[in-house]
Parts: sequence; structure tokens; C-alpha cells
Amino acid sequence: MDWILEAAEAMGPQLTEWRRWFHANPELSFQEVETSRRVAEILRSFGCTSVRVGVKGTDTGVVADIDPGRPGPCVALRADMDALPIQERGSAPYRSRRDGVMHACGHDAHVTMLLGAAKVLIDMGDRLPGRVRLIFQPSEESPHSSGARAMIEEGVLDGVGAIAGLHVWGTMPSGLVGYRVGPFMASADEWECLILGKGGHGAVPHLAADPIVAAGAVITSLQTIVSREVDPLEPAVVTCGHMEAGTTFNVIPDRALLRGTVRTFGRGVWESMPGRLRRICEGICSAMNCRAEVRYNRVLPPTVNHPELTLEAAQVAREMFGPTEVQEIPPTMGAEDMGLYLEKVPGTFLFLGIMNEAKGVVHPQHHPEYDVDDQVLPRGSALLAVLALRFLSKLS
Ligand SMILES: [Zn+2]
Ligand SMILES: [Zn+2]
Repeated sequence: MDWILEAAEAMGPQLTEWRRWFHANPELSFQEVETSRRVAEILRSFGCTSVRVGVKGTDTGVVADIDPGRPGPCVALRADMDALPIQERGSAPYRSRRDGVMHACGHDAHVTMLLGAAKVLIDMGDRLPGRVRLIFQPSEESPHSSGARAMIEEGVLDGVGAIAGLHVWGTMPSGLVGYRVGPFMASADEWECLILGKGGHGAVPHLAADPIVAAGAVITSLQTIVSREVDPLEPAVVTCGHMEAGTTFNVIPDRALLRGTVRTFGRGVWESMPGRLRRICEGICSAMNCRAEVRYNRVLPPTVNHPELTLEAAQVAREMFGPTEVQEIPPTMGAEDMGLYLEKVPGTFLFLGIMNEAKGVVHPQHHPEYDVDDQVLPRGSALLAVLALRFLSKLS
């Protein structure tokens, strides 16, 4: 393991240069054309011959297998490549060259760290105890058109026995590895309730069926899902974030529209939510002489880390970087399409701290001054490479 860390550290200046290039050239979800071209070019420069660019008719998404040329298990390492529609406010020489587009979530670092891991693993030649699939996915930031979903439909998980990924995290000290066994990041779903009543004059409500009063009752009753139905020890959120009804003060409209999001961690709760939401919307509306048309969209499942592989990953990180450099961290309410891979194959998603006050790198994810402490890049590359090796040896 030591030699891997040394090899990754020797790549430090190169990793920094790549990261800054990706930072300066951000591309939005499913538009990662130059990014994927550069990734493919770098992988080919390592002697990797299996690079495939383009997923599901788009020009982006890169998959490559590092194949030692003998039978054995296969594990995957995943990075996301897209940037956000944010105007960068930082002043670094490598700040975004594109107006209104910025790597404010560290996906530039994810791409770079995976490239570094790939180099280390490719250099192992036939000493590699199995195949390692590199997944550079497009579109993580646009959950309605998830790049992970597209890659999985394309078959990138075929034959894969385990997967690992890293996310750099702006509120964790530089170099700190954060892990969480089990549910780690929340699901993110979307719902809509169209309430159909009967319009009329605001002065004669008895001749109408008021969808606004029904909407009010639906909004408050939906909160009983979390307060009265879900186990109080299970985190869950039901939010109504949008309502629309009526045109003026003295008319009862014939419809009202509510929209919102649901967040959960536990798979059981996640699965139960559409039924609960539908029952309350329909029941309340029918009690008020209205009718509810409910749509519930699954957007992203919770990201659930495999217990054994996650503890193994934490142990590996402790051995490599020392016990104080690894910490169990609380779950976060944010969602990640890494959860889609982890639904299909066991694996782990870890956080790597990048906050460095001395360098002024102190901003949280999606902040217009977000940056990455490049010093952590070798650590990320080494960790990914060692995780691939550990997971391979577990599967052998
Ligand atoms: Zn993000
Ligand atoms: Zn992200």
C-alpha cells in the first residue's frame, strides 16, 4: 500500500495540473464533450486500449477496463464529470473560462483522482488481481436525467462485483476521509397533487367544491406522514414547495396544484412514501368533495453503503493515512446518483475533506467561490486504487 501512496504522491504536480485544466473548462450535465475527450486522451496516454467514449447517443461518458489479461473478478471505480450553472466568483488563475458554468462541486477533482488511480493500476500490469472498470459518468447534477442511470442502462455494471467512489467535501478538513455504514445520502423524489373541485362565486361556497380549502388540508395533513406514520427514529422529510391556485379574490377556482419533494434514508420508508402520500391526498380531497390526481416520481434512491465493504474501506484508509485521518460522519440530506450503482452492486461512497483555511479553501459545495485543496488529490487517487485492489481480493 505504501508504494501506491508514494506513486500517487509522485504524480502530485501532474494531478494538480489536470484538476486545474478541468476546473478552467467546466461543462454542464450531458455536455461534457471536451472533458470526456481529455479523459480518454489521458487514459490512452497511459496505454489503456479499452477506452470507450459516448453513452446512449450522447458524446459524453467514458468507460475503460484495466484488464490484466487473465480471469478474475471485476470491480468498478466511479467519478462524475459535470459542472454547475453557477458564475464563478473566485480569482484563481485557473478559474472557469466559461461564463455561468463552474465546477462548484469538485467533480473536476473526482475526474482527476480517478485518472491518478487508473495510472497506478495500469502500471501494475499483470500483477493486477482482476479487472478494474473505470466509470467517468456525465450528468450527476441533473438528477432528472441522471448520468448514472444512463451508464447503468448502457451496461457499465455488467460483471462488476463491487464499486467505490469518492466525493470531495468542502466542509471537512483537507485530507480527512469520512465514511458512513448503511444509508449515507438521502433519496430525492418529486410529487405533484392536482386537486380538482368545482369553481364558483366566492360568496356562495355551498354551490362550489373549493380546491383551495382542500389544498390547505392536504398540506397540513401531509406532515402527519413524518410525525405520525414514520418511525421517529427514521429520518424523513415531506416538503410542499410549490402551490398554485385561483386568479382573483372573489372567485373559487376549479383546481389547485401542489408540488413538493420527499427525502428519506431507509429503503423501507422510501418504498412506502408514494402510497402514503397518495392515500392522504386522495382521502382528504374526497372528504372535501374534490378529486386528487397524484403523480409521484422516483428521482434518486437513497445512497446506501454496504456495511462490510465500507468498514473495510475505512480500515484501508486508516492503515494508509493514520487513524486520526479517518472519521465516521453523519448522513447528509443531499442526494447523489451514486445511489443508483449501490442499488445494483455492493460498494461504498466516501467523502474526502478539501477544506484548507490557510489556502482560503473554505467554501461549501455549490458555492460560487468553491475550490479544492489540490494537495488531497494524491491521497484520493491512492485510496481509490487501494480500494479497487482490496475489493478485488475480497471477491477472489
Ligand atoms: Zn453537487
Ligand atoms: Zn457532487
